[in-house]
Amino acid sequence: MNLGIAGKSAIVCAASKGLGKASAFALAREGVAVTISARGEAALLATAEEIAQETGVAVGTVVCDVTTVTGRAELLAACPDPDILINNAGGPPAGDFRDFSMEDWQTAVNANMLSPIEMIKATVDGMLERDFGRIVNITSASVRSPIDELCLSNGARCGLTGFVAGLSRKTIGRNVTINNLLPGPFDTDRLRSNLAYRAEAMGKTVADMTAVAAANNPAGRFGTVEEFGATCAFMCSIHTGFMTGQQIIMDGGAFPGTM
Ligand code: NAP
Repeated sequence: MNLGIAGKSAIVCAASKGLGKASAFALAREGVAVTISARGEAALLATAEEIAQETGVAVGTVVCDVTTVTGRAELLAACPDPDILINNAGGPPAGDFRDFSMEDWQTAVNANMLSPIEMIKATVDGMLERDFGRIVNITSASVRSPIDELCLSNGARCGLTGFVAGLSRKTIGRNVTINNLLPGPFDTDRLRSNLAYRAEAMGKTVADMTAVAAANNPAGRFGTVEEFGATCAFMCSIHTGFMTGQQIIMDGGAFPGTM
């Protein structure tokens, strides 16, 4: 299938590794000029080089923290009028809610709710003027199926989901869609750190915890970042102009509901 987005431009936040990197890669394979960001310079530049080498597409890089005002300004200065925006940032730490302070909550809400909203605010009007825009927020399956120890994530991401539910109905009339892509367990650094937390809490080895978690998924495994990136790119394609405000869950079937 031709996704029909060759020649478009995209900002992919938090994209030197994991799900963000895979999304940038998949968009670049479709001929989209991507601008990627992360805080760590070495991994970001290595990823940009890898994407450019394989796809031949121009890759912009901005070393910044996307959860800060200055970081977002630097990113937007590098790509002021993106046709595609992939919102992403690191997830909040796991833990018991009794141990989290107000500051912890404010950090989580800033990273996983307010920062994506600020990125949408800075880019959506240009998309509306150009009659094309695709915004995908990388959130979490925990929005549909809360995970106890990820309480900061459960709460902050539901705030973003509520915001998107309203705005996305206002933009689709001009071919600007806003959807959320909800990862379940994907084999990335983030998943490995969550499994390490759970292993310690349950007195198991990380290897045992990992094997049990993979076996307990209906797919019998974790998702691959390539599967995630390809789905993200499809959500940014010309074929999804009639889909907005949706929670696209990719979790190997772990969420057991009918709807
Ligand atoms: P990952 O493999 O740890 O990669 C995170 C990427 O984001 C890195 O490139 C990191 O680079 C960058 N990053 C983190 N914080 C940033 C910030 N403030 N500003 C700019 N870049 C930042 O994580 P992942 O698995 O891809 O997860 C991506 C998101 O999906 C997270 O919010 C995570 O909680 C969520 N999620 C993941 C899973 C899963 O199974 N993998 C499941 C559910 C939800 P730097 O550290 O250099 O900045």
